[in-house]
Amino acid sequence: TDWAAAVAAVRGLPATARVLLICHVNPDGDALGSMLGFGLGLRRLGVRQLQATFPGPPEVPEPFRWLPGSELLVAQDDAYPDPDLVICFDAASESRLGDLVGRLDKAGAALVLDHHASNTGFGTIQLVDPHAAATSVVALGLLDRLEVALDAEIAAGLYVALSTDTGSFRFEATTPAVHEMAARLLATGIRPGEISRQVFDTRPFGAVRLFGEVMGRARLEPAAAAGRGLVWTYATREDLARHDQPAYVLEALIDSVRCTAEADVSCVVKQSGDAEWAVSLRSKGAVDVSRVAMALGGGGHRFAAGFTGRGAVDEVVERIRVELPGALLAA
Ligand code: 5GP
Ligand code: MN
Ligand code: MN
Repeated sequence: TDWAAAVAAVRGLPATARVLLICHVNPDGDALGSMLGFGLGLRRLGVRQLQATFPGPPEVPEPFRWLPGSELLVAQDDAYPDPDLVICFDAASESRLGDLVGRLDKAGAALVLDHHASNTGFGTIQLVDPHAAATSVVALGLLDRLEVALDAEIAAGLYVALSTDTGSFRFEATTPAVHEMAARLLATGIRPGEISRQVFDTRPFGAVRLFGEVMGRARLEPAAAAGRGLVWTYATREDLARHDQPAYVLEALIDSVRCTAEADVSCVVKQSGDAEWAVSLRSKGAVDVSRVAMALGGGGHRFAAGFTGRGAVDEVVERIRVELPGALLAA
């Protein structure tokens, strides 16, 4: 983490500088919240030519549409001039940036804010802290060093990021420092009850029915994770179409599946193309699922990881089974 270089890169921007904020594909609360919260901070510093975008379909998932700073979001357009500075949020590798890699390569400088241990070190300046609970921890660290005063609009995004990546302050990453940061954010007047309801506890009735169906086909394999149990299910595009739901509603599914007491590892396989699947993996601690994901071309954290799988669902799950014994952590 080169704070001095990051501060210099932002402070050294001329008034006319173009800054482009980007984050990973299928953006989650940390990606969008860190990006938009930090973006508003840059606004306060006087950066005027400021845009934010992400790869893939431009729709922002409904739970995040209310986020302050959403007005910074633009659809990707090759006609935009190359930015002087790109700032990238919550992406462990360039493969998570889709077509935006080209924008990053052509920018004057690329500042990377992230917290994945698997971060590949891309970009020209790295602020990568694998001990940070969310990318927003890094983002606030930089805003503090830039002497940007926190306000409720900046805090909203950073809080969404922190609360989503810590599973509402339940995961092991929930350190005293996380609660201290949450306290600073809450002191700006943001409403945690309202935010949590929007982000975690609101979904269309069609999604409730869809979840019922997809949960109903979950499989428990008691011995698959080297004796620790694997629970998995899958959802197809046809499932989404039948219930008239957008793909992002499936992001919450893993949190229901991973409750399974008999399983250490949980898995949701979500169709993302004709024979392409976005796979989410979670572990309760016996298995390092980032090792499984990395072996299969993806990445993530020890207890939350993912990859893109190809072929039939059964083939994708079989590949996971094969990797599990090697990913078992020493007790
Ligand atoms: P989720 O299951 O919530 O989509 O992702 C869990 C974690 O795994 C996140 O930290 C995310 O960055 C990582 N992850 C998910 N899918 C992929 C992928 O296809 N490639 C890589 N490199 N990381 C992924
Ligand atoms: Mn993320
Ligand atoms: Mn994150």
